[in-house]
Amino acid sequence: MDDRQSLSDLAEGLMDHSGMSNPKQLSAVARQFLTLQGASAVGICTRETLAGGPPSTDLEYVLPGARSAVSFAVPMNQKKIERYLAKESHAEHQENNISVNTFVTGLACSLADYWNQKGIVSRGLSGNGVYRQDTPGGMYDFMPEISHRYLAARSGVGWFGLSGNVITKDHGASVLLGSVITTAELEPTEPLSEEDSYCDDCKLCFASCTSGLMDKKELTSVVIGGEEFSFSERRSYHRCDLVCGGFTGLAKNRKWSTWSPGRFEMPESDEEFEQVLIETIIASEPRPPIAGGFLHPAMPGTRMLNVTCANCQLLCHPDRDERKRRYKLLTESGVVVQNPDGSLEALAPEQAEKRLAAMSPEERSMYEKVGEE
Ligand code: SF4
Ligand code: SF4
Repeated sequence: MDDRQSLSDLAEGLMDHSGMSNPKQLSAVARQFLTLQGASAVGICTRETLAGGPPSTDLEYVLPGARSAVSFAVPMNQKKIERYLAKESHAEHQENNISVNTFVTGLACSLADYWNQKGIVSRGLSGNGVYRQDTPGGMYDFMPEISHRYLAARSGVGWFGLSGNVITKDHGASVLLGSVITTAELEPTEPLSEEDSYCDDCKLCFASCTSGLMDKKELTSVVIGGEEFSFSERRSYHRCDLVCGGFTGLAKNRKWSTWSPGRFEMPESDEEFEQVLIETIIASEPRPPIAGGFLHPAMPGTRMLNVTCANCQLLCHPDRDERKRRYKLLTESGVVVQNPDGSLEALAPEQAEKRLAAMSPEERSMYEKVGEE
């Protein structure tokens, strides 16, 4: 047997890129690649199906010559979410959230690398935490390079819920989204039918939000590739920064909280938010660190960011009764306080008040405005 001949045949076979220019076949490969690794839904957008969309649907912003995008969802662990909402375990869901997020980024890069080695120039995007630097406020405008949400809704990975989160048939909003941008021509998929969406305006996403980010009356809509999508208008994004950043999280009725031990009050008007955000970041700086977390570019210095909210996402289950149950878990599991070693603990609201009242003014000022009732 001529070994050299057979190796050269093999090499030729390895370089065989047949099927790599057929949109249908390439789309099937993308779907297979992602679902085999754990994606629960996959969809495809093209330049045509994204035409006329917001700037964050411009695929060429991240890859010159891009023609298509593959959008996908990976579910988070529902049991850990329940324990998080019930304030039984902060760490379990936080770890799951961080690892699924990292997995989504890796999965997007894996498909892009697979195609790059087949001669199709592609790019996998990070799951989260990458923002455009060329907007007026730079990174602090929190405008993504490409909106995973818009790609997911336009390609039928899920619907837009009233919350503005993408909600999926099987896992509700408890998914993290990923995107792969490619120069390949792929076969687009269509949005899911609005009639089939499980979002029934229950508004539990609003009720679970201590920041008031979502406007209770106004809707906003976007048109992408001739399809219109609507969800609640956003008020100042600094609202979510303050709560999702972990700086504060006490509900208005002071009976429950997010996993943040902060009790700083939310101003009513958006105009006051920037100043309050700055004051709260400074006041909370000396808090002992919470276990786990991750480095986020928007946090001051190398301060860690912890997952403390995402309530609007995590309670939005496809089953309405389960959504109600989760809301009950969240709002009847008390108020979080922080111990001197950094650990978090949920207490009954009255006990939490007492714990704060027993602190020295310096210690207390890390969590609330001293003198505020
Ligand atoms: S919580 Fe209710 S209103 Fe909000 S997005 Fe989910 S189903 Fe829709
Ligand atoms: S993540 Fe939390 S603060 Fe932000 S919108 Fe959702 S519920 Fe509100």
